[in-house]
Amino acid sequence: MSFREITGHEPVLQLLSRAVARGALPASLILSGPEGVGKRTTAIALAQALNCERPQPWGDGGVTACDECAACRRIARGVHADVLIIEPGDSGSIKVDQVREAIERSAYRPFEGKRRVVIVETADALLAEAQNALLKTLEEPPSASVFVLVTSRPDVLLPTVRSRCHRLRFGPLAEADVANVLIQRYHVAAAEAHAAASASDGSIGAALEGRGEETVAAREAAANALQQAAASADPRRRLDAARTLIGGGSDRALASLLRDLGALLSRADDRALANADLKPRLHALLRSFDGDRALRAFSAVDRGLAALERNASPKIVADWVSLQL
Ligand SMILES: [Zn+2]
Repeated sequence: MSFREITGHEPVLQLLSRAVARGALPASLILSGPEGVGKRTTAIALAQALNCERPQPWGDGGVTACDECAACRRIARGVHADVLIIEPGDSGSIKVDQVREAIERSAYRPFEGKRRVVIVETADALLAEAQNALLKTLEEPPSASVFVLVTSRPDVLLPTVRSRCHRLRFGPLAEADVANVLIQRYHVAAAEAHAAASASDGSIGAALEGRGEETVAAREAAANALQQAAASADPRRRLDAARTLIGGGSDRALASLLRDLGALLSRADDRALANADLKPRLHALLRSFDGDRALRAFSAVDRGLAALERNASPKIVADWVSLQL
């Protein structure tokens, strides 16, 4: 996987790519951020960029892997002798023995490549003893080795471990990007991909898990409710429409549709739309939701979602949201 094929995270990827080109990559890194946004993929792409036989120029003074040479292919298949991936075992945790083995190997020069890369996947699963074993190596890493800790919960790591690593933060992806990855890389049908993306909180992993007929139906319900709300001035009818929504997964879809309405209002690029496949319907809705109304509705849904996360009653939230639409 070349850096250029990774979706989103442009500043982080550029930083890594330039550091590789200049030979200035920190020897201990933490890649932190939500699940399913591409942290592990980035760690692999970094290992490839470091060991590629034919690195390609990329971005502003950076390099990326060619994705085709023997080293790139071996790393992608997980069989390169110098790229070690440590993962939690059946117990769900990473034990000290797993770490010690990687540390011992990192003391030697790379066998076949240029840099040894030790990727600790789900690093928050490192037991305290394992973290302590890692500590000394993170402090004085062998010159030809790079340690990359991947985690969605960096705060679980010992402060001593965190302080020895250079941290790179990954944010959630744009919904439109999630949908495109599902369509292009996982060959998911457009409606399903967009519906799943709109309920994914910007995580490809969550979108893949959440895809299916139910998600498509939930988005359909949200779009219908918006249409009914737009068409009716009668608060009771809007209440009925909104009640069908909250709690069934349609609430997130509703927020996503409203965000798209906001984007259309501000004349954003169509490619930025999370629900690009519903563009004609969004345009029809736009005629009833003028600027202020869409903004108000969006903030209402946003607050409704926050209330639901705090375990507020779905019925009360639905009633309240519908009155703001
Ligand atoms: Zn290569």
